[in-house]
Amino acid sequence: AFDLLTVGGGPAGASAAVYAARKGIRTGVASERFGGQVLDTMGIENLISVPYTEGPKLAAALEEHVKQYDVEIMDLQRATELVPSTEPGGEHEVRFASGASLKSRTLVLSTGARWREMNVPGEAEYRNKGVAYCPHCDGPLFKGKRVAVIGGGNSGVEAAIDLSGLVKEVILIEFMDELRADEVLQKKLASLPNVEIIKGARTTQVNGDGARVSGLTYEERASGELRDLELEGIFVQIGLVPNTEWLRDSSIELSGHGEIITDERGMTSVPGIFAAGDVTTVPYKQIVISLGEGSRAALGAFDYLIRQ
Ligand code: FAD
Repeated sequence: AFDLLTVGGGPAGASAAVYAARKGIRTGVASERFGGQVLDTMGIENLISVPYTEGPKLAAALEEHVKQYDVEIMDLQRATELVPSTEPGGEHEVRFASGASLKSRTLVLSTGARWREMNVPGEAEYRNKGVAYCPHCDGPLFKGKRVAVIGGGNSGVEAAIDLSGLVKEVILIEFMDELRADEVLQKKLASLPNVEIIKGARTTQVNGDGARVSGLTYEERASGELRDLELEGIFVQIGLVPNTEWLRDSSIELSGHGEIITDERGMTSVPGIFAAGDVTTVPYKQIVISLGEGSRAALGAFDYLIRQ
């Protein structure tokens, strides 16, 4: 059994593992894919102190750092069930799709999140070639260009406001006939001179020239007519889904969006079970934030252990 097991091997899990191992406690990392979302990322320019890196390189660096310590890394393990300890200070069990099961006195749940995709032709093909999901990450790459934001909820409208200060023109596309964002955000959006809003529009296709995005096609829902827009970038903002399906039947408290709720030390509603990174309610899902959150959860878990 472990003293600390992280479920998830992205930035949050890796950081928690390094912090835990440095306390000399038995540490493990079990994850479906060590590296996490970082593996799907190309240029990374906001990991402070590293002006530029690329996803696969950062994932390798995370792994190398974890391997400097006595940490057991278990890759290709998808957790399917959590069985919390029934007694205070007892061992929690995590069951995996492979049939394996692991026990640990503390857990750091760090299974991350995934961007909801439009699932239209061209989206996957032009991912990182003009199709983007994170305005904080990729906004500056589109400086002076014409971009679309898909989605008129809070994150879409926030993204459009954010991007309007960087790019030449933003076209916000909403499926419904009204935006769903907070009134104050909608007012701000309406005040911006370089933002156009298209409502009642269903994006049907991402267009490109083979190398990069050149635009998109949408259906005007009222008329059923198809229209083309010429663009250099498309930010998809239709939701970030936390990977907590496997926790649904557990006693871990989740928010209305399915994110894990933690206290200021990263502890969940179940004593001894901590959580960190994109899978939690922490606002602003970013690598630096996940790294910080992972270290906080590991220190919180260590504090918990020495009090048992
Ligand atoms: P994740 O990275 O999501 O890692 C989750 C881990 O849990 C993975 O190991 C996964 O395999 C595992 N897992 C999931 N479910 C299970 C399960 N049931 N059982 C076991 N393991 C499981 N952020 C920036 O700061 N800068 C950027 O430039 C940037 N660019 C991005 C570009 C793209 C295309 C994407 C998708 C994200 C980008 N981000 C960027 C966001 C950043 O990648 C995330 O904020 C960060 O990776 C979150 O780390 P995490 O450890 O919380 O979760």
